Amino acid sequence: MSEFLFEKVALIGIGLIGSSIAINIRERGLAREVAIATRREETLRRAEELRLGSSFHLDPAEAVRDADLVILCLPVGSCGAATEAMAKGLKPGAIVTDVGSVKGAIVRDVGPHLPAHVHFVPGHPIAGTEQSGPDAGFLELFENRWTILTPLPDTDEAATEALRRFWEATGAMVEVMTPEHHDMVLAIVSHVPHLIAYNIVGTAADLETVTQSEVIKFSASGFRDFTRIAASDPTMWRDIFLTNREAVLEMLSRFSEDLASLQRAIRWADGEALFDLFTRTRAIRRSIVQAGQDTEEANFGRLKPRRGDPWNEKGTTAPGE
Ligand code: NAP
Repeated sequence: MSEFLFEKVALIGIGLIGSSIAINIRERGLAREVAIATRREETLRRAEELRLGSSFHLDPAEAVRDADLVILCLPVGSCGAATEAMAKGLKPGAIVTDVGSVKGAIVRDVGPHLPAHVHFVPGHPIAGTEQSGPDAGFLELFENRWTILTPLPDTDEAATEALRRFWEATGAMVEVMTPEHHDMVLAIVSHVPHLIAYNIVGTAADLETVTQSEVIKFSASGFRDFTRIAASDPTMWRDIFLTNREAVLEMLSRFSEDLASLQRAIRWADGEALFDLFTRTRAIRRSIVQAGQDTEEANFGRLKPRRGDPWNEKGTTAPGE
């Protein structure tokens, strides 16, 4: 029996998520070899300087050669083309997975390019920050965070279990569900909240009666939290909205109805309706803290950087997705 979970892992894409996986493999000894492929020479050289892998490639087909586990760590919209480019190098029995924030589109775009002799188990670690690139990764990113796996009905169960063990070894908790259910859940917990943040920051930027400098100067309250989310990577988020269109539109129409009823409550001075909703939402926040998915410290504990808590040390904040 090997001391490693996998002999060779190939990471296609080496940004925040790819580099965090690479650091986990290196620091926790999860694989003997790590091959890294990325599109730009500059990113590849940086990954090499950071010692994120044992071999470095511009051609993904070369990186995946002999790999037992291949992880696509790319924006959702580029996973199909990358799979097409690497497919001929995949070894029989390899597990192919990804980390994309949308799962239906990955099944649709990646699946058809894969040879029948590999196991396809799409995945999504619900952990992240608003930083990108190979310098952004850190060991603790996945600790105590959920990773969702969305195997297809004909996926080999042993492949799903092997991938589960890999994620658990990074400190993550793993849940299995269908790609459709994943996309619906993520639309409400992540995608629509990001859209709201992009929208409110955009509205503030366009206001004529309040100057930009006032928006920045007085942003200490709610607005500042939205700006953190609205600073997330534009390519990644463009792809999320283009590829999870249906679920996002469905959740947005529910959201708009609820917003209209809040608008009515304010217009008719219905304090009871406002108070009831705010009481219910406060309880949800409490449940998130109780589930260990955030801290109850004031201001998310953000004012006092704690050692060993990289997003605080970097002056950034709570995990995104
Ligand atoms: P990132 O830091 O921006 O890194 C992206 C990587 O993909 C880089 O290696 C980049 O290569 C490559 N890339 C970008 N555009 C490409 C294209 N058109 N074709 C080929 N390669 C391309 O991204 P990330 O934050 O790690 O996100 C990667 C995936 O993880 C996304 O699918 C995202 O949905 C998912 N995810 C993100 C988070 C988060 O909070 N960030 C959380 C969970 C899941 P070059 O630098 O060489 O151009």
